[in-house]
Amino acid sequence: MRIVFMGAPGSGKGTQAQRLVQHFGIPQISTGDILRKHLAEGTPLGLRAKEIMASGAYVDDDTMLAIIRDRLAQPDASKGFILDGFPRTVTQAQGLSKLLGDLGTPLDVVVSFEANNDEIIKRLSGRRVCELCKKVFNVHTAPPSVPPECVGGRDEHQVVQRDDDKEATVRERLRVYEEKTRKPLASFYSYTGLVRTVDADGDIDEVTRRLLATLKAGGGAKVAKPAKSKRRVARPAKRKPPVRRRAAPAKPKSRSKPKSKANSRVVKRVKRAAARKARPTRRKSSKRR
Ligand SMILES: [Zn+2]
Repeated sequence: MRIVFMGAPGSGKGTQAQRLVQHFGIPQISTGDILRKHLAEGTPLGLRAKEIMASGAYVDDDTMLAIIRDRLAQPDASKGFILDGFPRTVTQAQGLSKLLGDLGTPLDVVVSFEANNDEIIKRLSGRRVCELCKKVFNVHTAPPSVPPECVGGRDEHQVVQRDDDKEATVRERLRVYEEKTRKPLASFYSYTGLVRTVDADGDIDEVTRRLLATLKAGGGAKVAKPAKSKRRVARPAKRKPPVRRRAAPAKPKSRSKPKSKANSRVVKRVKRAAARKARPTRRKSSKRR
């Protein structure tokens, strides 16, 4: 599965990407991580990026695409990948489409994580980092006064707020993301029909469940339909044995209890099934007699 993750800073898409890595056995490709690796190893790409960054500029789209092309050529990406933090511009998105088109491996889905900005601001501005061991805390969940790892050496283990996490900075990052990335990319990908949105607010596990459900449905009707027909095939088989008794309509009612999730649908289905059964039941029971 070839996936692009889109989401504001602090939307939790990185965490969700890590979960999918385990679930699907495909790599999470984060351009930030790759760039740092190239820089650390002093590769030609890394040197080029280093020069650009030293001049105070952002790494250009061509360099980013070259980094992605290099990464996608590695064997672990052959089964699929999760692009996390790339593309960031329409030029990058176009380059990616062309690159994947040339490889004959187009994207399967673009997941857009939609999180409430107030939640993001609260979460990010609540972050504190230990300067020594780099452990991350959050004043809303784990106050810096209680982290066991940093209690021992209070003097060396200074828990601070990074500039990136200050509220004004977070607001600015969200504004830039909205203007420069989300709007243009949403527009670019809207024509592909690949975009699936996931509500990114709330519990991490809950978001993972939503994400997996979205990806399952993401294949479109082709994937969703077999699931429905499976149910239809399974139910009559279950219901047939009790049909021998006269009280046929009562049985499906009790059977429908555990399926309370889609009540109205179940009720309709049960009614239909009861109606269907009412006829064949007599035929069958007369045969048996
Ligand atoms: Zn520490």
